[in-house]
Amino acid sequence: MFAELLQQLPAEVLRENEPMQNHTSFKIGGPADLLVTPGSIEEIKRVVTYCHKHHIPLLVIGRGSNLLVRDKGIRGVVMKLASNFQEFLLEGNQIQAQAGISLSELAQNAAAASLQGLEFAEGIPGSLGGAVVMNAGAYDGEMSDVIIEVQAIMETGEIKLFKAEELNYSYRRSILQEIPGYVLTARMQLKSGDKNEITARMREYARRRAEKQPLEIPSAGSTFKRPDGHYVGPMIEELGLKGFTLGGAQISDKHAGFIVNRGGASAADVLDLIALVQTRVKEKYGLDLQPEVRIVGEE
Ligand SMILES: Cc1cc2nc3c(=O)[nH]c(=O)nc-3n(C[C@H](O)[C@H](O)[C@H](O)COP(=O)(O)OP(=O)(O)OC[C@H]3O[C@@H](n4cnc5c(N)ncnc54)[C@H](O)[C@@H]3O)c2cc1C
Repeated sequence: MFAELLQQLPAEVLRENEPMQNHTSFKIGGPADLLVTPGSIEEIKRVVTYCHKHHIPLLVIGRGSNLLVRDKGIRGVVMKLASNFQEFLLEGNQIQAQAGISLSELAQNAAAASLQGLEFAEGIPGSLGGAVVMNAGAYDGEMSDVIIEVQAIMETGEIKLFKAEELNYSYRRSILQEIPGYVLTARMQLKSGDKNEITARMREYARRRAEKQPLEIPSAGSTFKRPDGHYVGPMIEELGLKGFTLGGAQISDKHAGFIVNRGGASAADVLDLIALVQTRVKEKYGLDLQPEVRIVGEE
């Protein structure tokens, strides 16, 4: 299926039958038929156009910190943009960076240049590309506050520039979740500030995160989106489900809004827990909880 593609790219960027558990923060997921880690826009374009031409499903991922990959794995090609694609450029109060850079590296570089606006991002373990698509956010900040434009490659290989207002940002949503466009680079507008104050804010956010979240155990962050006017963790706690375990998956006993992999959890374990929480929340509160975690792979 991939014979020609395998010839068009260097061997070191290609892995066949690659277990996705090696590429997700959950440490869960069956094999991808082919995992590609291209290092340039030229290589990315070859992958995208090849898949489009041959009708091969393509999934673009970043650092896998918001992903639940099913146990049967992923048919087709997974293109990972992480440390293989992470250059950045500081230009005055703006930063232009490639999609794979980690948010924490980005926030630390901004702080080192006395630029404020990305403090909220430091503890989010994703890539810039994933954060742009998910409108990642924390502590009253989110990507839509700083993004001014995004360069994306469309499935045909065409490269398009999206202004922030064209991305239709809302809570954890952007138009890039709906169209076959993949983030290559993003430009952010920051403000100059006091380096000590910026780093102090980052330290405070990190302290609050470590106090509340099970950072030492594999997870994909908050399992569910926050419904308007409600907090998910306390609702799950009230249902008596905090610490509830199914196979290797557990509703975290530190923060009930997280499902964690206690060791050897399958995607099926996590999906069963998600379904259980959804049913019980619907019964008691009449609310339809939607997963924030992106669920992918063969059913
Ligand atoms: C401990 C922990 C804490 C977390 N805290 C937060 C938090 O405070 N706030 C928050 O918002 N999130 C949080 N998350 C979730 C996650 O880190 C964010 O959603 C992050 O933005 C995902 O980035 P990623 O690179 O890991 O994306 P992935 O998980 O790899 O992918 C997520 C989605 O984005 C798509 N995608 C990724 N890269 C691209 C690209 N270049 N082009 C097109 N589509 C792409 C994927 O197809 C997928 O649909 C947390 C996760 C963990 C494990």
